[in-house]
Amino acid sequence: MKRIAVLGSSGSIGQSTLAVARSMPRQFKVVALSVNSDIVTLKQQIKEFKPRLVCVRDSCAAFKLKADIGSLTKVLSGDEGLDELVKDKEIQQIMFAISGSAALGPLISAIKAGKDIALANKEALVMAGPIVMRLAKKYKVNILPVDSEQSAIWQSLGGLDAHNVRQVYLTASGGPLRKLAVNKFKDVTIARVLRHPRWKMGKKITVDSATLMNKGLELLEAMFLFNLEAGKIKILIHPEALIHSMVEFNDGVTMAQLSVTDMRIPIQYALSFPERLSCKLGGVDFYRLGKLHFEKPDLKKFPCLRLANQAAQELGSMPAVLNAANEESVNFFLNGKINFLTIPKIVEKVMRAHAKITNPGLADIFACDRWAREEAKRGAWRIN
Ligand code: MG
Repeated sequence: MKRIAVLGSSGSIGQSTLAVARSMPRQFKVVALSVNSDIVTLKQQIKEFKPRLVCVRDSCAAFKLKADIGSLTKVLSGDEGLDELVKDKEIQQIMFAISGSAALGPLISAIKAGKDIALANKEALVMAGPIVMRLAKKYKVNILPVDSEQSAIWQSLGGLDAHNVRQVYLTASGGPLRKLAVNKFKDVTIARVLRHPRWKMGKKITVDSATLMNKGLELLEAMFLFNLEAGKIKILIHPEALIHSMVEFNDGVTMAQLSVTDMRIPIQYALSFPERLSCKLGGVDFYRLGKLHFEKPDLKKFPCLRLANQAAQELGSMPAVLNAANEESVNFFLNGKINFLTIPKIVEKVMRAHAKITNPGLADIFACDRWAREEAKRGAWRIN
């Protein structure tokens, strides 16, 4: 029995993680949960899983929850609460399903506390990949990827090092706007962007998959997770989203990972590794499938991918700046403040204004993150 914590338990990955835990009560015990502010969902989860510990980041919501539930579950709050939670002795593995840069602080604390990590959050790695991976090595902690593409690369590598790899094909469904003409992008609505053809996900990541920034962030994530150079990773549009990524080795042999498009599969593997436990979701039906399609991404149509490539070449503090500027721009878009085409314009502007730090420490990363957000806010109104 593995004792797990799920951070971001009210979100899409968090709920899928609990679905996996629910289906295997003998393998996994949920001992801690955290949400940002959704205490309605959290209350249900407390009732079902009876965790000893929960954290609500929003202290007002935490206060309400405390008044509402019995004393069997300890309620923590704020960033300090989350920091305390991840260090809890009982926890063996932590699912990081918090979205955005908010995951970086608790991730560092969890690694230092020696917890194995199932990592669904990509922003923390994009911001501070070299630091996170160095710490994981130092504290002998496994970082097991949950993102379907990273899980596919991890599985295709089969334990081999990066020096065996000729190239990696990072696959992309192409997002909800793949077929839309670029001249329609200006007027694309929030509702249209949130209608993803293959994956049902949180809002931030769905916008990122419409701009293809999601793939750009995954490119950076893959570089850090698997110690690969940017030039070895090729983005491949694959609309069926059944091949979740592929690794071509030095001898020309390619290994691919295929499975149905459901996040419970990579989640389960990150939790059950090194075992492959049975799963009630079926496999790929190749007889019905018939064909798979592949194409090159259009960098003119999706400038975010070009910007992520640029950050991947420059490294240092640039990926953190790309990430922060993007997070802010996506928020502006979701709040109706800017149109879809302005997202990459803001990101590009902030990246241009940034004086890169070559070997940033954690404090530099946080400072660059704050600076990029301010810069994005200042620039946003002028571009639109
Ligand atoms: Mg992905």
